[in-house]
Amino acid sequence: MNVRKSYLLTLLLSTCLFVPLQGNESPDRTPRDDWSEEQLLELANSVHQNNLTIDTHMDVPLVLKRPGFDISKEHSWQDHANQVDFPRMKKGGIDGGFFVVFEGQGPLTHEGRLKAINSGFETVDLIHTTVSKNADIASIATTSQDAYSIREQGKHVVFIGIENGYTIGRNIDLLKEYYDKGVRYFGVTHVKNNDLADSSTDPDGNLHMGLSDLGKAAIEECNRLGMMVDISHSSDKTAWDILELSATPVIASHSGCYACYPHPRNLNDALLREIAHRGGVVQMNMFSAYMMDVPKNEERSAAFKKWFETYRSGRELNESEKKASLEEYIALNKKYPKPLSSVSAVVDHIDHMVKVMGVDHIGISGDFDGGGGVEESMDIGQMMPITIEMLRRGYTEEDLRKFWGANVMRVLDACEEYAKGLEASS
Ligand SMILES: [Zn+2]
Repeated sequence: MNVRKSYLLTLLLSTCLFVPLQGNESPDRTPRDDWSEEQLLELANSVHQNNLTIDTHMDVPLVLKRPGFDISKEHSWQDHANQVDFPRMKKGGIDGGFFVVFEGQGPLTHEGRLKAINSGFETVDLIHTTVSKNADIASIATTSQDAYSIREQGKHVVFIGIENGYTIGRNIDLLKEYYDKGVRYFGVTHVKNNDLADSSTDPDGNLHMGLSDLGKAAIEECNRLGMMVDISHSSDKTAWDILELSATPVIASHSGCYACYPHPRNLNDALLREIAHRGGVVQMNMFSAYMMDVPKNEERSAAFKKWFETYRSGRELNESEKKASLEEYIALNKKYPKPLSSVSAVVDHIDHMVKVMGVDHIGISGDFDGGGGVEESMDIGQMMPITIEMLRRGYTEEDLRKFWGANVMRVLDACEEYAKGLEASS
């Protein structure tokens, strides 16, 4: 307890003293309006070449489960309905990031939980197998030092994160098993409430009024292990509960600003400020529907409803049905393209975060293969437009070093140090 209190005090003091929460006032942040596209591209390339570049939320494990999918081959989002592979990471100047162990929220029953737990561990193993098969171009990272050294070796960095606490059911001990298998962030909820906490988007409203007792125990266990806690998808009350309880800084692995677009998935200014005050980071999400009003398209809705009824009713699909399901999905997306937000909107959210939190608390996540993507930045190979737009608006190379990886690595270090401190004092 003492260790935790003194750590918190040190953290708060150092945060208050050294973190410029009005970081946007820097005089050298002058827009580069007079620069040509070539000049901006050249500087953007050098930013990506000289710095660790991490996307904190990639749902590519969902795609790894497709029969025959090879992450070492280049695909296209239009023809293959997939947004992440190693060749495109290289093209986009992205070293790597967090591959996400995602479980959709199912029933809060013994069977439902067991299924989610088994599937969660299967996904972790699949990530390890995939990286092993590509050992010449990628390695698993569990610390910031790993990330920097894997990058030095010219390889891609693969961290592992969890999206949805459903993956532990009601068994807190499983967090240690996930940690031992390399998982370094724990996203408490997804789009519906679970045993641990309330989600920001459950149509039935609150179940626990924030964190449940089990959820509180999960946060304490994450702190003890040195695992980052991810508040993306949590209800505001859940997020406040986590911030109050967590002994270490938290992350939002993929979230935007409520002040820019009032969607319950986005974070209001008070939450942004508190995350920053406690040393955490918010990784700007590139999910279009959280940045704009999506115009109604009855034909698209009807076509996808039919597709869901055919292929996502819960029954197991055989191989030919899986193939047909993917082919029809790709064809439907071509016929009824999804309305997309813009690179400019993504950077508007980042501008707002800078005003509220300062440059030390911001990062970037595409949410690729999980619904993310905006016009001109539809896959991991198209991250350069984001950097170019930030440079155009006057962000410095040092700002971008922080946004693209240094900030979130600082949080990972803080969590690891806290866990080591606890161990040393026990
Ligand atoms: Zn998500």
